[in-house]
Amino acid sequence: MTISPPLVPYLESTAKPVNGTPVLLGVPFDGTACFRKGAARGPDSIREASDCLESYSPFLHRDLSLRPFSDLGNLILAGENAEKVNTLVKEASLHLLSKKLIPFLIGGEHSFTPGAVAAVLEHHPGLAVVQFDAHADLRNEWTNTQWSHACCMRRIRDMIPPSRILQCGIRSGSSTEFDDLRESGCLVPPDIDSLTSALEKVEGLPLYLTLDLDFLDPADLPGTGTPEPGGVNWQELEELLAALPWHRVVACDVVELAPELDPTGRSSILAAKIIREILLSLP
Ligand code: MN
Ligand code: MN
Repeated sequence: MTISPPLVPYLESTAKPVNGTPVLLGVPFDGTACFRKGAARGPDSIREASDCLESYSPFLHRDLSLRPFSDLGNLILAGENAEKVNTLVKEASLHLLSKKLIPFLIGGEHSFTPGAVAAVLEHHPGLAVVQFDAHADLRNEWTNTQWSHACCMRRIRDMIPPSRILQCGIRSGSSTEFDDLRESGCLVPPDIDSLTSALEKVEGLPLYLTLDLDFLDPADLPGTGTPEPGGVNWQELEELLAALPWHRVVACDVVELAPELDPTGRSSILAAKIIREILLSLP
């Protein structure tokens, strides 16, 4: 596993990781994107866009300049397939967890999340996963691979029972996927009351948050590979994020920004802002 230092670090990032703090690591991979590619440019575009952000969040009344975190840059990838990328992400996450750091992975497409979850499970066997996404991602195989971004939650279900998985905001999938979501009890509507009551079923457990940016409405975030109408807006997302028990979040990711699909650049700015709010919310 090799990591390249960031050309432009994320806003206010300190150079060296400090014990117990979040560490950003980019995964510039879009090898399984089934509709439109471009997520490989996500991590660098988020860093560039962070330059226009204030370090202070009025909503949280917290300032990033007072919170240590670091930006390690990107995993160096050279044509690996999605399964191999999962192995590399697992290795990298295990390394960060062994140093008592909080892995915060930036995509890249959603396909690498199972690798990160596998690593966190070794440190936290009772781990629960909260997914914010437009898509169920529960296919067993898609475009000739079981490691497609359309399969990532199926691979996580292979490791973690549905009683410890919340899939919030899902509004697209096959009838089989939706039957599964309803029967398993994983489906959570994207409103505060539903999320709060669903979180009771994983009360006290360590949490992994995976945020697929197509959870947002394409009107707010058009720069993503498989946009899906009917999503939440920024204010609604901010309130949903605020409802999470952050003291129990041990790792997270934000995935599926494809910056070049949005010539206005506002998708990258919104993604950078979401990452600021998450950095300010983590323990
Ligand atoms: Mn999605
Ligand atoms: Mn997804």
